[in-house]
Formats: sequence, C-alpha cells, structure tokens
Amino acid sequence: MSMPAQPGNTPTHQDITAAMSDFARLAIRASTAPATENDEIARLLLHRLVLLCGATRGALLHARFDTPESEQAGMARPPVHMRALALHEVKEGEIPPFVLTAPATPFTEQIFQVGADWIVSALPIREFASEMDGDHHGGHQQWAFLLLGLDPADDSAAARITTLCQATSDGALAVIQALLLSARVQEVTATWNDTQRSLTDALTAVADWEQVFDAVSDPVGIIGQDFRVIRANAALRSHLNRGEIDIIGHHCYAIDSNTDSPCAGCPLPQTMLSGKASFVQQEFVARSPVTGEPERRVYQRWTYPIVSVTGKVDRVVEILKDVTAQEHLREAAIRAEALRHADHLKAELLGTVSHELRSPLASIKGYAATLMRYERRLPRDERHEFLLAIEEATERLEIIISRLLEISQLETGTLPLQREPLDVAHTIREAVAVAESKAAGRAPGKFTFVTNLYGKDGHTTGTLPYIEADPRMIREVLDNLLENAVKYSPEGGTIEIAASPITIDDVDDLPIPGGSRTFHPGEQVLEITVRDMGTGIPSEHLGFIFDRFHRVDTRLTREVDGLGLGLAICKRITELHDGAIWAESSPGAGSVFHVVLPLEEALVSSR
Ligand code: ADP
Repeated sequence: MSMPAQPGNTPTHQDITAAMSDFARLAIRASTAPATENDEIARLLLHRLVLLCGATRGALLHARFDTPESEQAGMARPPVHMRALALHEVKEGEIPPFVLTAPATPFTEQIFQVGADWIVSALPIREFASEMDGDHHGGHQQWAFLLLGLDPADDSAAARITTLCQATSDGALAVIQALLLSARVQEVTATWNDTQRSLTDALTAVADWEQVFDAVSDPVGIIGQDFRVIRANAALRSHLNRGEIDIIGHHCYAIDSNTDSPCAGCPLPQTMLSGKASFVQQEFVARSPVTGEPERRVYQRWTYPIVSVTGKVDRVVEILKDVTAQEHLREAAIRAEALRHADHLKAELLGTVSHELRSPLASIKGYAATLMRYERRLPRDERHEFLLAIEEATERLEIIISRLLEISQLETGTLPLQREPLDVAHTIREAVAVAESKAAGRAPGKFTFVTNLYGKDGHTTGTLPYIEADPRMIREVLDNLLENAVKYSPEGGTIEIAASPITIDDVDDLPIPGGSRTFHPGEQVLEITVRDMGTGIPSEHLGFIFDRFHRVDTRLTREVDGLGLGLAICKRITELHDGAIWAESSPGAGSVFHVVLPLEEALVSSR
C-alpha cells in the first residue's frame, strides 16, 4: 500500500534510478516470460509507480484509436478498444471518463491531463502491431494511459507525480511495449500454428485426392484453355498407352488423334465456351479390358467445366466412359425389337393377304361352280356377266399379288431405280388422262380433272424442268394418288394436280411428318400436289397412312377395294428418289398430297 507522499519523502534520484532498473528487469521478463505472466508484470509495474509517486490509487490502461490519417489532427475521438492492464485500489467502473477520448494530436510524447483528483499520463505506443499486420495508418493509434490518484489535501502531490511520471515514463513504456509485444507474439504464434495445421490438412486432402483420381477406373483428364493436358489419371494413361511425360503439357488433340487442331465433334470447345457440361458418343478401336486384344469399343466423352472465381471456365474435366457393354445390350434389344416387329408384320401380312385374296378367289370359285353346274341352262348374257365377274376378280387378284411383290421388292432393294431425265409435265398429263378415262367409265360426269403447271415465277406454264427419275415409278406414284383421290371422293368433285419448281427458302416450314429427309435452304425441288374434295383423313391418321396396310377404318374404306399398300409404295419410291411425300387433310375438307423431288441443277439449266 502506498502512502500519500509528504514533501519530506519526495523520491530521491536513487529512488528513480532504482525504479528504472526495476522497470528494465520487468521489461526483460515481459519479453521472455510466457504471456500467462503478463497480468502479474503489469500489476507489479503499476504497484511500483503508485509507490514511487506516493499516489492514492492507480490504473494502467491500453487504448486503441481508429484514427484515419486524414483525421489525426483535430477532434478527440473515443477509443474503439480500451482494456485495463492493471488496477490498483480502483475498480474498472471508477475510471474517470476524461481518458476515454483520444489525446489531441500531434502528440508524439508523453502528455498529462490533470483532473480533480487524478493525474493521467498518456504514453504513445509504437505501432508494431499494425506494422506486423501490414495495416499501418501512420500516427499513433495506440496509447497506454497511466492514471495516478492524488490526495486533494496534499498540495505538492500534483507537481510531484507529474515530475516522477515524466522521469520514469521511458522505463514504464518499455515494460508496456514488451507486454504488448509478447501478447502479439503469442497471437502470431497461434495464427502460425493454425496456418500450419490448415496447410497440413490441405496437403493431406491433395494427397487423398490424387489417390482417388488415380483410382477412378474411367479415364479422366484435366485440360486447360489452351487444350494442353494438365492431369491424366492412371486409367487415361493406360487408355492412351503413354507415360505421364508424353501426356502432361501436350495438346489433347495431338495425343488423341495426332492432329494440330481440336478434333471434329469433340465436346471440349463447346464446354469451354458455354460453361456447360457436354457429351458425345464415339467409337474407337481399343484394347479389350478382358483379352487385351484390340477391338471396337464405344465411349461416351463427357466434359465438365471448372469455373474460376471470376466465373470464367479455365479448365475442363474430361471423362471417358466405356459404354461398350451397355451399347451391346442396347443393340441386342433393338435387334430383338426389330425381330418382334418383323414377326408381328409377318402375322399381319399373312392375315391381310389371306383376307384380301379370299374374297376375289371366293367370287371366282362361286361363278365358276355356277357356270359348270348350270352352263347349258344359263342364258347367254348371264353367262357373259359371270365371266366378266370372274375376269374382274382375277384382275383384282393380279393387282394384289403385284402390289405385294412390288412393296417386297422395294423394301428388299431388289427393284433397282432406272433413272433417266424425265419430262414430269408429260408424265402428269398421261397419268391424268388415264385416271380421267377410268373415272368417266366408273362414275360418268362426277369428276372434273384440272392440271396446273407453274413456272418458277408462279405463272402457269406448259413445261416443267426435267428430273432424274425412274419414269415407271414416278408414274406409279401419280397413278396411286389420282386413284385414291377418286376412290375416297364418293361425291365426286374436282381433282386438281399441280406442279411447280420451288426453292426451299420459298417455303416457311415444310410439314414432312416423320420425313427421313432434311431439306436445306436454297435447295431446288419440284413439288407435285394432288388435291381432291373427298372424305378427308382424320389428323390422328395422317402420320400413319404411309405405313404398310394402314387404312382409315370407315364405311367407305370397307366398301372400296384397298390393301393399304398404295401410299407405302409411294413413300418408298419418293425416298428412293431422295424426295419426300406427305399429306394435309381434315375430315370432310378433302385432301392434298404433296410430293417433293430434287431438281438436278444441270437438268434445270439445260432444258
Ligand atoms: P388403299 O387405298 O389401298 O387402302 P393406300 O395406301 O393407298 O391404301 O391408302 C391408305 C389409306 O389412306 C386409305 O385406306 C385411306 O383410308 C386413306 N387415304 C388415302 N388417300 C386418301 C384420299 N385421297 N382421301 C381420303 N383418304 C385417303
């Protein structure tokens, strides 16, 4: 406990020297002892100062001010952080508030404030902490406040304490600096240990990752923006049959296919550009994982982007998935499905054919039997009628058999195309003439046939460009369409056949349902349309009428002869000519059948 100093016991020069050497020892202890002793050292320092000055109580505070350089000069600011290092005969709540403002600047040395019964010595602390953090704002941001209480009755106390504080401030500051430095060293050591731990964790994670990367059974590579391989796992090295040195840093396309630019169809450039995963299925000859022999293998090449913090794709992960086994299974499933389908078709064909053959055969048999039995009793004209019926049924049988033969030959490819330059305008006129005379025979006066040929300019013309086609087959298509137009128009009406050369650009959208042919803008084609005013076709059947044996089941189709093969034959013929066929129709509104055939450039210009 310190006693208020009396004028008589003002500390001597020796007292000050002794205190200073005490402070030097404390400073050394603070810088070498563990930080756990810091509180004790601060307490000893304060106790020594209180005794030396003959003060009634004391407090040693550490304050940090957030004072930007621009505001250093000027107004006092409250500290952002204040901490008591040591207290003597005073509680933290009793510390006078006047020290809680920043000392007015520029203070580079010790300053004093004198309150009613306190003397405050503000000691500037060197900015070692900020320097270490690289956060140096300039000026003093940290201060130590030494508060010493004085007895108001002691007249000389203020002057004595001020003098003693001045005399010992360097020593006291040395201890405080050493204390703060030791705390800071402790902090830095803890951070360093944390960093070491994080580093060890990161290195372990990298090592784990490398092992997992190598253990993945699919070939995996990481490729940079410049298409150079950054990493390749063991499976990829074995797939490429090369060592790491021949892969890493080399262009992937050079390794893969010995080219000097990205391989055609590779999904990698797309992933780099779009930042989206992409894939492609490819086949190569590779070693079988079972026999080691080269064989055809199917791979899916997947590419996934690795996006940097800036949102740019800077690397791509490429995974090769061997899907040979799945592909074999899929192909086997498709083959099995095709066989099932073929079996079904065979059964359907047999059913339809026997049904279709039975009715003309039954007529032939019936009429022939009647003729044989009642030959002599039958009047001549009745006999003639029976013979005509037999002839008609035989013709029908002939047609059925030749249709069946034709579709089978078209589908098996045993009916080769006899292409030659064909004057379609002429073929159309011939087909219309035959259809017209047949219709006039069957239903006189019911049908009107109109033929409209247009030039490229849209005006009517008498000629059309030639096409390279098989004349017999094209004629067959026209005959079928015209015959259907008559057959499925029970009320008669106008049947229009129109034809014109068109450029694909002229047509917004060619509606080719299930068309196997893609048309390109600018392509020259000849379009032929056959339009009737008949029953029309329900929309749900439009996509199927070109299938074999497909007939729209209505009273009319049951009444008119038909096998459901005419349009299938038309479709096959147009496809063989690299063209397309489709229909537009709705029930009650008639039908339009479109046939599009390619125009040979040489033929177009030469005729
Ligand atoms: P078929 O006429 O022998 O039945 P197609 O293959 O020629 O066989 O025609 C298939 C089906 O398409 C026909 O049964 C009929 O239902 C329908 N069809 C074809 N052309 C027309 C048409 N112009 N108008 C209405 N329906 C038609």
